[in-house]
Amino acid sequence: MKTLLIIDVQNDFMPNGSLPVPYGNEIVPNINAIQDKFDLIVATQDWHPRDHVSFANNHEGKSNFDEIKIHGVPQTLWPDHCVQGTEGAAFHPDLNTNKIETIFRKGTDKTIDSYSAFYDNRHLKSTGLAGYLKEKGTSALYLCGLAADICVYFSVRDAVKEGFSCFFIEDASKALDTKAFEKLKKSMVAMGIKMVTSADIL
Ligand SMILES: [Zn+2]
Repeated sequence: MKTLLIIDVQNDFMPNGSLPVPYGNEIVPNINAIQDKFDLIVATQDWHPRDHVSFANNHEGKSNFDEIKIHGVPQTLWPDHCVQGTEGAAFHPDLNTNKIETIFRKGTDKTIDSYSAFYDNRHLKSTGLAGYLKEKGTSALYLCGLAADICVYFSVRDAVKEGFSCFFIEDASKALDTKAFEKLKKSMVAMGIKMVTSADIL
């Protein structure tokens, strides 16, 4: 069964949001166009309490994009983003959400960040997504969304470890740091993840 996993297509990650991914809005029509080709569509939302550990504002003397360590794990400090229930945490208004069967929310624990759709950044707690997809019969998993070099990358890496056959949809994802992403893409290919475009799916 073919499943589409849409990662964090939320207002705060759009060019006019608080943590903008360049050209993030351009992926929305491509994601909408391919939805009919999937048996199951699942989406994630980054969904933080206001006092979340990943916000620079919650660390005295720290600035946005500073690097710190939390429990020995590197943590980038971000501008406040995707605060639970705010407009910034909502999906982009043009994203077709009608066919999204389930939404998995992550980053809800204020003490730890969660880039991957499957686990928090210390791999301590599962979101339940892997079990859900397996129970639904997912074999091929197509991933897209924002940001390609962070949440999509960490998700696809976990998805491979969970045994799914993974596809990364290039024109339905945008990176925060495109240069860093070029390297990550090579490591994704080395992990056996197949690179596709929306045209390949249509
Ligand atoms: Zn976040």
